[in-house]
Amino acid sequence: MSSPDSPKGAVVAVRGLVKTFVQAGPWPWSPERAVRAVQGVDFEVAPGEVIALVGQSGSGKTTVSRIVLGLEEPTDGQILLDGERWDGRTESDRRTRRARYQYVPQDAMGALDPQQTALEHVVETLAVLGGRDRAQAKADGVAMLQRLGLGERLDALPREMSGGEQRRVTLARVLALDPSLVVADEPTSGLDPDRRASVLEALVGNLPEHAGCILVTHDMTEAREWCDRVLVMLAGRVIEEIDLAESEPAHPYARILFDPWSGAVPREPLATQGCPYQPNCPLDTARAPDSPCGRAVPALTAMDGPEHRVACYAHGSSSQS
Ligand code: SF4
Repeated sequence: MSSPDSPKGAVVAVRGLVKTFVQAGPWPWSPERAVRAVQGVDFEVAPGEVIALVGQSGSGKTTVSRIVLGLEEPTDGQILLDGERWDGRTESDRRTRRARYQYVPQDAMGALDPQQTALEHVVETLAVLGGRDRAQAKADGVAMLQRLGLGERLDALPREMSGGEQRRVTLARVLALDPSLVVADEPTSGLDPDRRASVLEALVGNLPEHAGCILVTHDMTEAREWCDRVLVMLAGRVIEEIDLAESEPAHPYARILFDPWSGAVPREPLATQGCPYQPNCPLDTARAPDSPCGRAVPALTAMDGPEHRVACYAHGSSSQS
């Protein structure tokens, strides 16, 4: 099930991803409505790379991350993990490879067993998913918890841990499996800034060299500080892809997101035709007489190098075919 479209060495390659949900109407007799949550998303993650998927809630970032791990099926498109098709596999086929592709949930407390200690959580995961014998699982579990600063908390139950410690136990379970890919969905949600930093340091600092990581976040400071590349999503599409160490955002929506002082969010409903940001766009292009903004979706186009791509007519995009 390998694919010639897989870029050499990419841990993840996403091609033309589409996800449509069918939503029931408010009354039993109301017609169903198709909601296009993801509309043609493409990206790759290289070994050792940490990318951020950012955007407001409803932008499609969590749906993309869940599809990448096979927790949801795409409506269209391909997911390649380590060069092999991952979409369309049976659950039993996925289960045999599940240890390589790991998910860090937002709700750490909900993911932990209230009756198990920190060490028991990691040992259980290594024995069941990682196939290690109990003695090896225990030795590896202790080593990983020590690396994550939990060496003194091996026997702590979830209710005895701080929020940051609970998150680090969920990370220890994932990282001890030596995964190829980690998808972390808002792993610092609800924590204070110091604990956020310690959780991200534990994740990024202990990622295996061969692994890639997708961090789903609405915190732009985290994306800037911890990620090699950022994909900004709006209305189910990637509207900018950027290495923030090299360039600053160009799309007007991305500029607002990354401006810590703006506090502004789109006030007008997003457009359903053309560029979704047009009703909110402050650029002259959006209102120019012959502007394509209201007619056709702009394509993601290289701006000042292949690492920086923007979907905006004011920055040279053509229309999506
Ligand atoms: S494509 Fe047009 S409406 Fe959309 S962000 Fe660019 S200028 Fe504004």
